[in-house]
Amino acid sequence: MIRYTLCCDQGHTFESWFASSAAYDKQVKRALVTCPVCNSPKVEKALMAPQLARTKKGRQAPDPTAQMPTPAAPVAAPAAPVAALAAPIAMVSPQEQELRKKLKELREHLTKNADYVGQKFPEEARKMHYGETEHRSIYGEASPDEAKELHEEGIEFHPLPVLPDERN
Ligand SMILES: [Zn+2]
Repeated sequence: MIRYTLCCDQGHTFESWFASSAAYDKQVKRALVTCPVCNSPKVEKALMAPQLARTKKGRQAPDPTAQMPTPAAPVAAPAAPVAALAAPIAMVSPQEQELRKKLKELREHLTKNADYVGQKFPEEARKMHYGETEHRSIYGEASPDEAKELHEEGIEFHPLPVLPDERN
């Protein structure tokens, strides 16, 4: 026995059992198979995958090519980055706010108790390191290259904590 999902010329779909594929062909040719809804003898095999082919209203099965799995619509892609951008704003936890506060306090403490030397930081740091000037707390700016050089010379320094909204 073989079960076929059939479709009449009015678009009704129904299932019917046949002894074999050949028996189906014979019965359809002799108009022995009729639609249970409209009694039309003009029936043919509906597309396989009846779950997809059939609609609630029993309309004609779609074109086989329409059943091909379609690639993910590229239109949906921009949704993700937008959500990702929105996330950090919405997710500032109390711990994060506390951390930001601590960083700000540390930064204020450092800047209050150290001399600002600006662009001269590498020079001043070097002078102190080699004993040319007295040790004191300083802060200022150093380019990544300068920072690397200082580090290679064994001069200890720490980057000032920078708060995300204070970067310039
Ligand atoms: Zn019908």
